[in-house]
Amino acid sequence: QSSTATNTPSEGLPAIRKIAGKSSGPRVEGKVAIITGVNSNLGIGRATAHQFAENGAKAIYICDFDSTNLESHKREIISLYPNVDVRVRQFDAADENAVKAVVDDASKTYGRLDVFFANAGIVGAMSPFTAIGKDEFMKVMETNVASVFLAAKYAAPAMMKTSAEKKSPSGSIIGTASVAGLRSNAGTTPYSASKAAVISLAQTTAYQLAGTGIRMNAICPGLIETGMTAPTFETARFRGTEKKIGQLNPLKRGGNADEIARVALFLASDEASYVNGQAWAVDGGLSAGHPFVP
Ligand code: NAD
Repeated sequence: QSSTATNTPSEGLPAIRKIAGKSSGPRVEGKVAIITGVNSNLGIGRATAHQFAENGAKAIYICDFDSTNLESHKREIISLYPNVDVRVRQFDAADENAVKAVVDDASKTYGRLDVFFANAGIVGAMSPFTAIGKDEFMKVMETNVASVFLAAKYAAPAMMKTSAEKKSPSGSIIGTASVAGLRSNAGTTPYSASKAAVISLAQTTAYQLAGTGIRMNAICPGLIETGMTAPTFETARFRGTEKKIGQLNPLKRGGNADEIARVALFLASDEASYVNGQAWAVDGGLSAGHPFVP
């Protein structure tokens, strides 16, 4: 499916590239959601905030440690979807007190928390593993793994508490992992290890939450054009080697943030009521095979 820009950008923000058409499936009607890693203009977090708003969310906390664009993202979402309440929070996703505070705020303000999308992440050191210092390794682990652990640690009890008042208890915790956590990704040792840990967190947490109605899953994006990977795409365009990016992919292209956001929307929705403890590869088929070298 080809990508098209369908939203009207405001305040100089780049348009989110959306797959054709309005999503007609899962809704998150009346749900209260927290999303981390939303500041990036091209990122998965911002695209997901738009999907949640477009599909009925009552309130969305848009969070990031970099707040440069958060207020303009908030204004844009409200102008497109006036019924949604958007709250901006600036904090490090691996800061335990801050994660607890945003969860407490949602429970207190809305009396419910339905979705925590722990999406913030960094690539970190890409040197050969023998050249990577322990501090660099731990920084990636803290940002990519501890953040997801903390999201689950504080969101689950809050979801349980607010679920007690609902007819059928529910809640969805989603961590952004990566296909790099499913298969080795040469050159990004700490990153790959951290994303494998996110998948493991989703699996173990799903089991520990047995009987609560709260689900936890991981999304494993392939190569997606976002702030994180923009330099790769830009360099390829500059060199005229863009086709090479998709060469090993069955769909012959990289993905865009909205294609991940739509899967986050599904996992957040009640449509995914029996989807639990899974790692969802959203990668155009990249991880389904291995390169054939004739
Ligand atoms: P992005 O760089 O566009 O967005 C990441 C956002 O996370 C940024 O806004 C950044 O400020 C924020 N962030 C980083 N560290 C943070 C912290 N400690 N606290 C709070 N916010 C923090 O990249 P993206 O591709 O949208 O990344 C989103 C997630 O997707 C990440 O977890 C990333 O590892 C994962 N992912 C991306 C790809 C890809 O190809 N882009 C592939 C697989 C997985």
